Amino acid sequence: MEHPCLRCGACCAFFRVAFHWSEADAFLGGNVPPELTEKLDPHRLAMRGTDAAKPRCVALRGTVGEAAHCGIYAQRPSVCREVQPSWEFGAISPQCDKARLAHGLPLLTAQDWIEPGDPDMPRTG
Ligand code: SF4
Ligand code: SF4
Repeated sequence: MEHPCLRCGACCAFFRVAFHWSEADAFLGGNVPPELTEKLDPHRLAMRGTDAAKPRCVALRGTVGEAAHCGIYAQRPSVCREVQPSWEFGAISPQCDKARLAHGLPLLTAQDWIEPGDPDMPRTG
C-alpha cells in the first residue's frame, strides 16, 4: 500500500510552518536547512513559502493531490513530524482534514489504511 501522504501533500501547502529558531541551528543540534527558512519574529522561523497567502513549503516536491513528498524528510521541523494523517492511528486528524478539504481532496477514512488482501477487507460476492 502506498502511503496516502505520498498522493497528497496538502498540509505542506496550507499551514504556516513555524518553529523555534534553534531547530535550524546546527551548533545547537538543529538540522532543518537554514537556507529554506525565513525569520518570523525573534523566536521563530518559518519554512519559506508557508507564510504566504497561498502557502506552499519550499521543500515540498511534486503536485498536491497527485504525487508529493517532503524534500527534506529526515530534516523536517518538529511541527511537521507532529501532523498525523487521519485514521493512520485510528482517529481523525483535524489538521489533515482541514488541509485536504482546502485542496478539494476527500478526507481520509479508515479504508485508506487497509492493505489489499487484509482479512478485514469488506468482501463482495
Ligand atoms: S497528513 Fe493528511 S494532509 Fe498531510 S500529506 Fe498526509 S494525507 Fe495529506
Ligand atoms: S518541511 Fe517537509 S513536511 Fe514540513 S511543510 Fe515542508 S515539505 Fe511539508
